[in-house]
Amino acid sequence: MSYDPNPQFDPNDFSVHDAHCHCGAIAYTVKLSPSIATHKVTRCNCSICRRNGFLCVYVSRAQVQFSRGWDEAKRYRFGNMNVDHVFCGTCGSSLLVDTRRWWKGRDFLAMNVRFFKDVTDFDKLNYREYDGASFKPNATAPLDDSGCWYDKQQDWTKVEENPFYP
Ligand SMILES: [Zn+2]
Repeated sequence: MSYDPNPQFDPNDFSVHDAHCHCGAIAYTVKLSPSIATHKVTRCNCSICRRNGFLCVYVSRAQVQFSRGWDEAKRYRFGNMNVDHVFCGTCGSSLLVDTRRWWKGRDFLAMNVRFFKDVTDFDKLNYREYDGASFKPNATAPLDDSGCWYDKQQDWTKVEENPFYP
């Protein structure tokens, strides 16, 4: 069975998580379904996840309520430039990945559960290991200086749905 990163929201099985960056400039609440007790958290070994410690759950944008700081958040892109890695410009916390321009019609935010206030024991989470380091839709594409894959020739604006996406 293929992995669905964003299962249907089940009103009988969800959890609510308050979160904020380290300095508190950006604050938000995430509704996660199924609840964190059984939710598969993606642990990826790609160049950015390794460095920033991303442990991600994928939720629809409507499931995240920003109470503070969203407009001031900084964004970082690399590789195919199609997802925004969103972080706090003051404290540098890596909060989420905004996939809007990548997966047309499926508006996800990949939320880093390390910022959920009630999640403190990371050994208790259910993980889905993802080998993002080997993510190469086109094996002939070059590596950039950061060691991540990208392809300057490919027109990524034409990608409707990418089966390789973690
Ligand atoms: Zn901050």
